[in-house]
Amino acid sequence: MDLLGGPAGEHAQAVRIAGRALAREDLLTRAAAVAAAFAGALAVAVHATASLETVVAVVGGILAGVPVVPLPPDSGPAERAHILGDSGARLLLAARGAYAAGDGDPPVVPVDDLTRGDRARADVPGDAPALVLYTSGTTGAPKGVPVTRSAVAAGLDALAEAWEWTPDDTLVHGLPLFHVHGLVLGVLGALRVGSPLVHTGRPRPELYAEAAGSLYFGVPTVWSRVCADEEAARALRGARLLVSGSAPLPVPVFDRLADLTGHRPVERYGMTETLITVSARAGGERRPGQVGLPLAGVATRLAAEDGSAVPHDGETPGELHVRAPMVFGGYLNRPDATAEAFTPDGWFRTGDIAVVGPDGWHRIVGRASTDLIKSGGYRIGAGEVEDALLAHPAVREAAVVGTPHDDLGEQVTAYVVAEGVGERQLIDFVAGRLSAHKRPRVVYLVGSLPRNAMGKVVKTRLK
Ligand code: ATP
Ligand code: MG
Repeated sequence: MDLLGGPAGEHAQAVRIAGRALAREDLLTRAAAVAAAFAGALAVAVHATASLETVVAVVGGILAGVPVVPLPPDSGPAERAHILGDSGARLLLAARGAYAAGDGDPPVVPVDDLTRGDRARADVPGDAPALVLYTSGTTGAPKGVPVTRSAVAAGLDALAEAWEWTPDDTLVHGLPLFHVHGLVLGVLGALRVGSPLVHTGRPRPELYAEAAGSLYFGVPTVWSRVCADEEAARALRGARLLVSGSAPLPVPVFDRLADLTGHRPVERYGMTETLITVSARAGGERRPGQVGLPLAGVATRLAAEDGSAVPHDGETPGELHVRAPMVFGGYLNRPDATAEAFTPDGWFRTGDIAVVGPDGWHRIVGRASTDLIKSGGYRIGAGEVEDALLAHPAVREAAVVGTPHDDLGEQVTAYVVAEGVGERQLIDFVAGRLSAHKRPRVVYLVGSLPRNAMGKVVKTRLK
């Protein structure tokens, strides 16, 4: 099946990364030569820096029908060994000089050495994996997710429809190229739709501002930085659509972004296992703190801990289950995790807690493992407490977890990055916004929060 789509009419699509550009046809020519060198390989790892070499290598794998395993460029030796060993990749492609090979690495081949040979393009079935992506490791060791071509196509097509994403758009982002967001949506999405891509190298506000695109992707930390740079934010007024995903977009950031840019951002929810599954629509309503409606072809439901159905009444939280053509079939080498991940009737358990309204709108409350605090018989969503803290003008970042408490079971504990405000003042401030059992009992002022490459707070470390 054809994953990359065709060039759209007279539009001359180009992919530009950190100032270097390749026209679509040149990109496909180079990638087809890479594909010839891949023939017969089981899997190929790519040192996934933000570079044209990464895109050429990934597209080469797609043309060859060989699963590509993107390796986070800043991964330490342990993570790298885990990904290379687990995926069985016997070859590692990198931009020339960009990768320092270590003991136990497979042979490292510069992408440029492969781009001039004969070309190949295989006819590959839809159920073949295009990529093996590793989860972000927010709740434990990263798990390998084989992502099939038809899952990628289903996710991207549903998204293009919801966001009215066409070749007339220019996509701008600066996200890492080893994750669903930056690579599947941010690169394969642009190629499939046929819209030009400007990758800014790094997701910095001033680079977003000068790119003058129409469709912008970011994770919440990026949008929060954009809000802190008013000049850059104002430069986005000419855009068509700002999209946030990969982690919850705090309501105060949503509001501030809307004020400065004139765009109420679209929020999107998904994960490595389900790609892109729930989103607000370009032509539709936006609701701060909510991620929107299931995309075309996606079914969701809520379940209680005992598996019973939870009503879609807009207030009762339950675990979100998904059934959709973009849902993966099982983790690589993890039959235990795969068995736990699916219900007997075939729904994928996301591990996320959500509330769904009678109108189908989804609000992600947090992760079952870290964001649901059980304190004194109450169940408290960390996000609500974080939003209350973030409403204070001096607070830049906030993360709330449950920590052990003799009497309450867990107590609400907040880690806050702020300037010119004390713990006591913050506790008093949220007292005006939250009922008593939800107020943090302990507030720690810290210099920064532990975050992974996708800007997600690693709460297991805070706990
Ligand atoms: P691991 O599975 O290794 O612990 P991870 O879950 O962070 O890491 P990803 O697949 O990259 O790995 O992230 C998916 C998760 O990110 C979702 O399950 C959800 O918790 C969170 N997420 C993604 N988008 C949103 C969003 N818009 N709002 C809230 N949470 C989101
Ligand atoms: Mg996960």
